[in-house]
Amino acid sequence: MSAFSLDSQYINIDKIESIPYHRLAGSVPTPFYAYSATQIKTDFAALKRALPQGIEYFYSLKANPNKTLVALLHQSGAGCEVCSLAELEIALRQGVAPSDIIFVGPGKHIEELTQCCLAGIKAVVVESIEEMILLNEIAASLGVTQRIALRINPDFTGAKAKLVMSGKSRQFGIDEQLLPQAFATLRELAQLNLTGIHVYLGTRILDWQALADNTQNILTLAARLQRTYNLELDFVDVGGGFGVRYFDKEQALDLSALGDALLPLVNDYRQRFPRCTIVIELGRFLIARAGIFVTRVNYLKPSRNEWFAVCDGGANCHGSAAGINALVRRNFPMARLGPARDGDQHRYQVTGPLCTPTDVLGENIMLAELRSGDLIGIGHSGAYGASASPVGFLSFGHPAEVLVENDQAYLIRTADSVETLLAPQVCQRLSLPNI
Ligand SMILES: *Cc1c(COP(=O)(O)O)cnc(C)c1O
Repeated sequence: MSAFSLDSQYINIDKIESIPYHRLAGSVPTPFYAYSATQIKTDFAALKRALPQGIEYFYSLKANPNKTLVALLHQSGAGCEVCSLAELEIALRQGVAPSDIIFVGPGKHIEELTQCCLAGIKAVVVESIEEMILLNEIAASLGVTQRIALRINPDFTGAKAKLVMSGKSRQFGIDEQLLPQAFATLRELAQLNLTGIHVYLGTRILDWQALADNTQNILTLAARLQRTYNLELDFVDVGGGFGVRYFDKEQALDLSALGDALLPLVNDYRQRFPRCTIVIELGRFLIARAGIFVTRVNYLKPSRNEWFAVCDGGANCHGSAAGINALVRRNFPMARLGPARDGDQHRYQVTGPLCTPTDVLGENIMLAELRSGDLIGIGHSGAYGASASPVGFLSFGHPAEVLVENDQAYLIRTADSVETLLAPQVCQRLSLPNI
């Protein structure tokens, strides 16, 4: 079975920026996540350089909501795509202008819609006719006009996406067939101002041709709606879904080919609609490669024919590496961190501290002899890490996070402690309303 052994292509095994991992591990408890500020900036700059000028980028906080990372991406020029009250608040407190924030999600509640209106964000991306009507009532009660974008579930499907979000019945967006009804309703809603169209077809796409085809389909749909309904739009959000290479047999997205393919589409669209900006929203692509998960080997133990390296952080901190939500578990890029060790390679099962056999970070990983106390790093872990993991399981809590730039390291999230984990557990008698 193929194993992802040492891979300088994904992981610098000695240090992150200019700090050796063992020095970080000397001041932050393992397990932890570490992010490279330079990598974040480099990845974003490469994207902007390759794709046509004038595209606006929005960072999807869902991928990693840490406020320091949000601020860094915002300073590099990204707007924010948020999906909850806390994500909205993170963006606003980091100084992101409301005009650079969009709010997406199929189940927005009254409080979220109210805060969107009070802040006056760039657009509430409405996902149903009922939501539109509710938002209009809220805006009216506050005496404001709120900008909206319509999220459309088009008749076509996204090509080559790992998760398909359109072209079939979905809780996301308004079906293309229902648009006449949506536009008719919208005409009656005086507090809403339609400024955008939003389509999100799927995610983890590595094929530039598929991304270009998706963009073409979305721009064609937008142009048709703009003509049919005589819309004056500020932006068309063509989604994103750019993938990152995790596994040996995958090919990284070819940004320059994508840029070449998008250029004529973007230019053609701009000529017809010069006032309208094209927006791309990305989570994984902007943050995944900058993060590494660092976990410590606590025990090395034989069982039958296998050696287990049992680590202090596993699926509870890094559910994606353990294959939670994946159809088939595959090894993420993984290495022992620190100076290379001589000697034969051995086969290891790298597991975590949970009392479940599914807590596996790496299967059949070939490494020079491991010792307890060693640090293991899992690369490409900046997106969908701790916040997408069952950190409450077995009450281990959320791990620490560190941002590194050159020879400086910043603690950007403390690890949960027993105190912070136990504090929300209360036992209070409820006084129930008479309804
Ligand atoms: C999850 C999501 C994103 C971010 O997806 P990535 O694959 O991380 O880029 C963007 N937009 C919407 C609507 C999403 O649901």
